[in-house]
Amino acid sequence: MRRQAGARCARCEKPAVACVCDRVTPLPTSRRVLILRHPQEPGEDVGSGATAAVALERAVLRTGLSWPNLRRALGERCVEPRRWIVLYLGSATAYADLLAALPSVRTPADRLVLLDRRGMPREPGEAQRIREESAGLVVLDGSWRQAKALWWRNPWLLKLQRAVLRPPHRSLYGRVRREPRRECLATIESIAYALEALGEPATVRASLIALFREQVARMRRAGLRPRRRGRRGSRGPR
Ligand SMILES: [Zn+2]
Repeated sequence: MRRQAGARCARCEKPAVACVCDRVTPLPTSRRVLILRHPQEPGEDVGSGATAAVALERAVLRTGLSWPNLRRALGERCVEPRRWIVLYLGSATAYADLLAALPSVRTPADRLVLLDRRGMPREPGEAQRIREESAGLVVLDGSWRQAKALWWRNPWLLKLQRAVLRPPHRSLYGRVRREPRRECLATIESIAYALEALGEPATVRASLIALFREQVARMRRAGLRPRRRGRRGSRGPR
């Protein structure tokens, strides 16, 4: 099968020009990472979920729309959903208000806001206990719309702890990929900050961000852009 983008890397599935696997030394973490990827995402040359999976020793990447539970999604027998944290998606405006009302970020842990069932920030002590006892992180990979579809199709995610990120900067994607919300981070950026907030070494965060920076640089040099979805009416033959 031939693709316009040329040869693809077998590990990260990126066009060879955007692959950064040559820079990867898999990073050990004490927590697992489960990346649930929307089936349409692999077609995106600019996605970062697969890169994160290659870069983290304990990451698992699954592509699909729904799984019956965490155990099956992860492919393991013994898992405690209460010790897993899912990066939660909700309405942008709800979060803007919620996050603006919180005290400013002073430590990496403050970047991950644990939410209760009503979607309100947990007490600091309770949040800290959940962070410390966490066994893993679930991240939904895809565009905003795809991630939302994954959220609704996997009701078992409601049994996990929920958290939202307060990112330190806008995504490094910049002009490479237009996110529908300014504060949207790439999957690999979200994982980097969330893991640091949970207590993983800062070097893990730094390595993931450096890797992503390199990926973005290579994508730019190769002139890669995300596909335009749902756009019609190209003018004439090429
Ligand atoms: Zn690769």
